[in-house]
Amino acid sequence: MYRLGAASPYCESRPFVIDDLTLEGPGPGEVLVEIKGAGLCHSDLSVVDGSRPRPLPIVLGHEASGIVRESGAGVSEFTPGDHVVFSWVPVCGRCRYCAAGRGALCEPGVKANIDGTLLSGARRFADAQGRLCSHHLGVSAFSQFTVAAQESLVRIDRELPLEKAALFGCAITTGVGAVINTAQLKAGSSVAIFGLGGVGLSVVMGARAVGAYPIIAVDLVEEKLTLAREVGATHVINAGTDEPVAAIKDLAKGGADYTFESVGSGSVLRQAYDATQRGGTTITIGLPAPHRMFSVSALSIVAEERTIKGSYMGSSVPSRDIPRYIAMYQAGILPVDRLHTHTLPLAEINAGFDRLARAQAVRQLISFN
Ligand SMILES: [Zn+2]
Ligand SMILES: [Zn+2]
Repeated sequence: MYRLGAASPYCESRPFVIDDLTLEGPGPGEVLVEIKGAGLCHSDLSVVDGSRPRPLPIVLGHEASGIVRESGAGVSEFTPGDHVVFSWVPVCGRCRYCAAGRGALCEPGVKANIDGTLLSGARRFADAQGRLCSHHLGVSAFSQFTVAAQESLVRIDRELPLEKAALFGCAITTGVGAVINTAQLKAGSSVAIFGLGGVGLSVVMGARAVGAYPIIAVDLVEEKLTLAREVGATHVINAGTDEPVAAIKDLAKGGADYTFESVGSGSVLRQAYDATQRGGTTITIGLPAPHRMFSVSALSIVAEERTIKGSYMGSSVPSRDIPRYIAMYQAGILPVDRLHTHTLPLAEINAGFDRLARAQAVRQLISFN
């Protein structure tokens, strides 16, 4: 991607250009990975439309799986042939956040992501003019090969279908992690989920896995409400025809214990707050544009003992959580396959993002075979 803010439809404006780049081999602590599966996520779309700007040119994509092909100096944990899923925050393991078990907030990891570099500060891609290209969240999944810091990788079970394993890199980790890590949801808690993309549907699955009831899913698209029922929602609300706050208060007897916002909209976050029971917790996962503000009654936080929590990458420790969620999938507890709606070649990536922007897809995977 050489420019931000392309207008839709993307199959005409073509924000993604398929180009031949030079990829420098892995430096110390880095690994060369052949990408096998790459998901199209709304956070990629936020870079495309300019609401989350990143340094250009950039090789986008942050939800991915692949096979290790080469290890740089000092890499002891990964050997060629290993199957891996990427964590889109590199987790250094040493900073104060990592030491506290909060790898999603890793200080050097977040800085490298903002700078568009690997954890070492390096950029390994260059275009035909020799210009260095930024990495996207240390992953850069929309490429046959990438170089990543070993701190961006988690080794996975080789039995798992590798293409689909990409879904554990963002959608599942973010959504199920919001339930298990951020909310620490207990069985019997009432839950409402606003927005049913890959992340919102993963919240539904996580809520089902921990025994929440009722699980109320809210969206504007009827197909997504049907899918939400299939993966664990006990009730669904089409916000285009029903007023969701009143409907949730009715179903959950005064409001849900936990509400999750995964749209990235201030007004939807306000609805989620209003649909939360007194004493309850409102969790925000979506990424609104940076200038958006959120306003609520300060008194309500005190007098109603309310909590508002942010959840970034599911408050995850990737090396602990990704293998856990994979084991839960293999045991039939998380119906991850239901998120996968399309497979496409890299050449059709612009059309894929049109489908995502129009809510005609949940998770689309690029296949490099
Ligand atoms: Zn994502
Ligand atoms: Zn760290």
